[in-house]
Amino acid sequence: MIIMSNETLSVNEQGHLTIGGADTTDLAAQYGTPLYVYDETAVRSAVRSFKASIDENYGGRGMVCYASKAFCCKEMCRIMAEEGAGLDTVSGGEIYTALAAGFPADRIYFTSNNKFDEEIAYAIDNRIRCIVCDNIEELYRISSIAVSKGAQINVMLRLKPGVEAHTFEAVMTGQIDSKFGFAIETGEALEAARKAASLDGIKLVGVHCHIGSQIHDISPFEKAAEVMLDFIAKLRDEGIIISDLSLGGGFGIKYTDKDIPVPYGEYMKRVSAKVKECCAAHGIDVPYITIEPGRSIAAPAGITLYTVGSRKIIPGIRTYIGIDGGMPDNPRYALYKSEYTAEVANKADAPKDEIVTIAGRTCESGDLIGENMPLQHAEAGDIVAILATGAYNYSMASHYNRVPNAAVVMVKDGQSRVIVRRETWEDVARNDV
Ligand SMILES: *Cc1c(COP(=O)(O)O)cnc(C)c1O
Repeated sequence: MIIMSNETLSVNEQGHLTIGGADTTDLAAQYGTPLYVYDETAVRSAVRSFKASIDENYGGRGMVCYASKAFCCKEMCRIMAEEGAGLDTVSGGEIYTALAAGFPADRIYFTSNNKFDEEIAYAIDNRIRCIVCDNIEELYRISSIAVSKGAQINVMLRLKPGVEAHTFEAVMTGQIDSKFGFAIETGEALEAARKAASLDGIKLVGVHCHIGSQIHDISPFEKAAEVMLDFIAKLRDEGIIISDLSLGGGFGIKYTDKDIPVPYGEYMKRVSAKVKECCAAHGIDVPYITIEPGRSIAAPAGITLYTVGSRKIIPGIRTYIGIDGGMPDNPRYALYKSEYTAEVANKADAPKDEIVTIAGRTCESGDLIGENMPLQHAEAGDIVAILATGAYNYSMASHYNRVPNAAVVMVKDGQSRVIVRRETWEDVARNDV
């Protein structure tokens, strides 16, 4: 039985799940579990397909900025640097990681809803490409920090286009009641743009929006583009010229068979048609475009491997499969009730004839990987793979129950290497006094 029809995952003659040509049971034996595993080819080809869509639709006048919060480590930054991508960072720690990996500062954007002075100063000192400003106090702070350093920094304004994307509530960010950005409809954004255009130390280059995550529909993106270009035209009427437009990320991926992701080429085709149409209608130049895919680059390329420790059957109620990881390495079910596809990696050719709850190892009833999950018969010692865990898993990991963070392995053409070492109990207690 073939599980996935993509090139990343397959099943070999032993009936074992493979990723990027490597047998997952061998990886589990070699590196231990829980283990995050990525297919480098899948990461690179996702970036390339987004890049190709910008080349085709905007003649290369734009940049794919990987949203590093999805999965950030030095090796991921190196891969993005090699692919010519930009980086959309959200903290001093992510900027630090990128710079430490040798990522070019002039392709780093800094977006967050509350940037500390220390982070702003660090970004300016390191001459990153652009700060995406979230609120008016921050705008003044960016200006005064830049002025105090005798510097000037490019700024984009994070806007709320007022578009609702049909996605889980906690990941909707484009509507007016959101902690992110300036609202257009209240006049707040216009006022901020006037201010930004007049403040020293700042060069207002663009406007930015990000309407949500795991979106399976193109029309909210088209609508957002339309609202953003109306706003750019309004600024033009006031003599404020905007050269850059970011339309954020949020492209949906396939976690289970229920998800039907947007083909990314189709997304760019329709959104660019909308952008060009609006620019023509308003008589403005087509802006430099940035898009910020995070999940869609990292998630499908990664899986997590666990070892089964127990099988607990509660007659007439449910069967729990206990694994050696859970919420500390993947909090998404606890946070969002996210659904995943699971496989018994060493029995991947067997039928999924059981419906189980996969239970994490921590002392928290809500620590589950999922409920009502179809799975092959799993017992102690089996390796369970959870698919499409490449985004917002490692990056959201915690030390709850003093659990050390799992290792991350990158696979390329069947060869594997550690890119983040497994933590030890000593690591967990390292800063204790
Ligand atoms: C989180 C985020 C992204 C990436 O979102 P995905 O859903 O992972 O594609 C892009 N831009 C901004 C500003 C974000 O906050």
